[in-house]
Amino acid sequence: MIIVMRKGASKEELAEVKKRIKELGYKSHVIHGEIRNVIGAVGDERGKSILQSLESMPGVENVVPILKPYKLASREVKPEPTTVTIVPGLEIGGNRLIVMAGPCSVESEQQILETARAIKSAGATVLRGGAFKPRTSPYSFQGMEEDGLKLLAMAREQTGLPIVTEVVNPRDVELVARYADIMQVGARNVQNFALLKMLGQLDKPVLLKRGMATTIQEFLMSAEYILSEGNRRVILCERGIRTFETATRNTLDISAIPVLREQTHLPIVIDPSHATGHASLVPSMCFASVAAGCDGLIVEVHPHPETAASDGPQSLRPAEFQTMMNKLAEFAKVAGKEL
Ligand code: PEP
Ligand code: MN
Repeated sequence: MIIVMRKGASKEELAEVKKRIKELGYKSHVIHGEIRNVIGAVGDERGKSILQSLESMPGVENVVPILKPYKLASREVKPEPTTVTIVPGLEIGGNRLIVMAGPCSVESEQQILETARAIKSAGATVLRGGAFKPRTSPYSFQGMEEDGLKLLAMAREQTGLPIVTEVVNPRDVELVARYADIMQVGARNVQNFALLKMLGQLDKPVLLKRGMATTIQEFLMSAEYILSEGNRRVILCERGIRTFETATRNTLDISAIPVLREQTHLPIVIDPSHATGHASLVPSMCFASVAAGCDGLIVEVHPHPETAASDGPQSLRPAEFQTMMNKLAEFAKVAGKEL
């Protein structure tokens, strides 16, 4: 249920309503608006009509049901877009287009430092790199694990770029959180609810990737798992879905951008690398995604794609990334974003 407070309702009235929601066995999530505050009361769907009684409390304007199955992720609860602070001074979801770039996997000190410097000079603002890799085959490179996290931290120190890196297993959440600025949930883990709940308890942004066979509604329900635990810093990432097409690794669902925009206030990032699987297709998908209104991109870049431990064929070389970034600035401008 959404409890809409009156314009000018006092802090005490808000506190009383929150107290009553708790007494009724629901959790309240206050969303502070410019004109008025609203409270999302979430909990057991079966008995929610009892919340209707809050309408008679001082300061309450009305109580309306949230029609969507996801609540805190919905535009019904929060019509204005959410900006997520990645690190102080760097936000996603506002006017600035955020470009995250780096190798699929962290492989060596030389590789990550060289990539970090290159993507920074091309204008990227976040460094990506996997230290724990969710590979389809158990025989493929599984990542450098904590050594990889240490190299990412070193690259951050040297370049000032915050880092986004994946956590694959709930047991590693604490370890990864010690190093990462953004915790990435991979496509294969989008419905790992134990992992999502743990990430919901962190005070750190989470980049949640859509699964390859996840509907938008299911994707938003996964975001809801994180939000409902208290972590509001969720960033959504479309990375291609599985279709009958084999010319590309997946099919980039560009229409997910305007659909998500209508349904949720959360920032939207596009991953054209995993979506297409081919470096040559990445720039055009970056431009199209920006034109469709995404808030950010996450792009694989490797100094020597031919020797990459994972995803070489879809990784841009630094020079190609630079060329893409130069052109991206024009698309960003048309889309009303700054690069
Ligand atoms: C990745 O970002 O390296 C990755 C494994 O992506 P996804 O989870 O989208 O396959
Ligand atoms: Mn990859």
